[in-house]
Amino acid sequence: MTDYLPLLAGLIALLAGLTIGKAWERYKLRDGKWIDRRRARESPHYILGLNFVVANQIDLAIEELSKAADALVNLQKLHEDQHQWSEAYDTRQRLSKLADHDERPQNQAILAFLENEIGLEAMRRKDYAEAIRRFQAAIDLDARAVPAYLNLGDVRVADGNDKDAAAIWEKLVEVAPDRAYLAFDRLEALALRTGSPERFTRLCRRLIDDNPQDWRARLALSRHLAASGRPHDALDLLFAALVQNPHALGIHQAIWRALGQLRHEPSLVDRYSELTRHAVFYLDPHVCLRCRYRSTELLWQCPHCHDWNTFVEERIAPAQDTTEVEV
Ligand SMILES: [Zn+2]
Repeated sequence: MTDYLPLLAGLIALLAGLTIGKAWERYKLRDGKWIDRRRARESPHYILGLNFVVANQIDLAIEELSKAADALVNLQKLHEDQHQWSEAYDTRQRLSKLADHDERPQNQAILAFLENEIGLEAMRRKDYAEAIRRFQAAIDLDARAVPAYLNLGDVRVADGNDKDAAAIWEKLVEVAPDRAYLAFDRLEALALRTGSPERFTRLCRRLIDDNPQDWRARLALSRHLAASGRPHDALDLLFAALVQNPHALGIHQAIWRALGQLRHEPSLVDRYSELTRHAVFYLDPHVCLRCRYRSTELLWQCPHCHDWNTFVEERIAPAQDTTEVEV
């Protein structure tokens, strides 16, 4: 697993040698003074030849460097498979030093996921101080490291620090509103526990205002309202959510629960029925199992990944029925 080390060392020596060699060729000590030989003797052949050699060696160097990078990627995957997160982290860090500048955000994001795993290990052995350090480091590496926010808040709650937990999860909602729903259950429980449920309803309303298509915030808020004895308000939100995502089983279940609370008030049942009649449930029921490309009709070759016979019809299956194809 350290095969690439001599290779890298050799490569660095090679590059350093070339640079020093080139400098040595160019500057010579004459009469106790360094002089530039290129200025003294400008032979076009010499310069061309030197550039040719250097160019060739750099091609070789790049080829060898990418071989080293591939070895490191494989090594990282190997460590990840074994859950050796620290080793995987070190490997990715070495890799990021070889990478181009524009690959930096992606490397930082991967490093953040690995930091998060190291933090989870610390959490499992109840080393909360180390866990906090790791989750925080993950967030510092990548401000959108969603699981690190969730876990950091969990450690704070375990530590009895509800206030910090709330601030951390609210920060997650702010930096990654598209993933905010992952923190909804935590934020709602915390708001109820600390006696300020309006903190949760305000957050949901703000998300809906910012993004009218946010059906998850509507669903979360509706559940909260239904539980607080406001099934009519809950249904209004759920019907609006249904327009945004007629496929979501969770919305339909919440609607039936709220309708049940209202003893199936006929006007509301009619409204639900009307909405579902117009919703195009099976607009794109076929999905490619290989690349998840969606199509309204069954295709024999996927236009996206070009694989054959990879489409299945998507069905809304009961959660406990595990024999259904999961798509
Ligand atoms: Zn495909």
